[in-house]
Amino acid sequence: MKAGSVRPVVLVMGGHDPTGGAGIQADIETIAVLGGHAITVPTALTLQNSHQVESFDPAPLDRFIQQSRMLLEEFEVVAIKIGMVGSLAICEAIHTLLNEHPAIPVVLDPVLAAGGGGALSQNNLIEAIRTLLIPRLTLATPNRNELRKLAPGGDNPQARCAELLNQGCQNLLVTGTDEPAADENVDQVHHLLLQQDGTRSSFQYKRLPHRYHGSGCTLASAITLQLGKGGAIEEAVKSGLDFTWNSLKQGHQLTDGQHFPNRFFNP
Ligand code: PLP
Repeated sequence: MKAGSVRPVVLVMGGHDPTGGAGIQADIETIAVLGGHAITVPTALTLQNSHQVESFDPAPLDRFIQQSRMLLEEFEVVAIKIGMVGSLAICEAIHTLLNEHPAIPVVLDPVLAAGGGGALSQNNLIEAIRTLLIPRLTLATPNRNELRKLAPGGDNPQARCAELLNQGCQNLLVTGTDEPAADENVDQVHHLLLQQDGTRSSFQYKRLPHRYHGSGCTLASAITLQLGKGGAIEEAVKSGLDFTWNSLKQGHQLTDGQHFPNRFFNP
């Protein structure tokens, strides 16, 4: 039996980042501060500091599947947010779990490498994400580099996006923080939302001066919650981008490494 809940419940599947900047801690903070409740199934434990990821261990498969099923059975999950996937076996398990719950919106932040350096996935996993997860997504939020890896067939960003949308991904938000396009003003960050029906929306923000740890996780979680509440895609993306930009603008420098988002910023 599912209990009713005042706070919309978002199921998060992602890696644990012990620094608290990224990963499931970022997701929990974002979802909670925006009025939701995060339930979390870790896909991996990472070994890292605020500079870089050293290594990671995928979560035990049976435990991952059992815990996900227990939560999906008990809670009324309004949306699912996927971050770091961890292993091929976990990717296959997520595919099966999503097929068992076809009506729940799903957002994937394709975490392929850490911002500060360090792989967070293997090549065969990228292929599995492409074939098993992309067709089931309400939204994917790749940066330009991740888009290139997910759609290697396309030789320009438009062709790559078309490839993923044709595969069944309903919406794509290509974030522009990692590398400005050749014709772009470098003082600004440009993000592009593409919908399957061909609608395009672009969003511009002032580029902030530092490198941040956990911005992608914050963004995808904020959007997932809004979609779970029934928000339209364009508004959900805009509010997620605003929230993330503000949390970075008022971010903290806790070490001499990357800056940390402040998801409890003063509005
Ligand atoms: N998830 C985990 C567990 C991570 O360790 C990282 C980066 O280190 C990320 C996600 C991605 O972080 P970002 O939001 O900076 O892309």
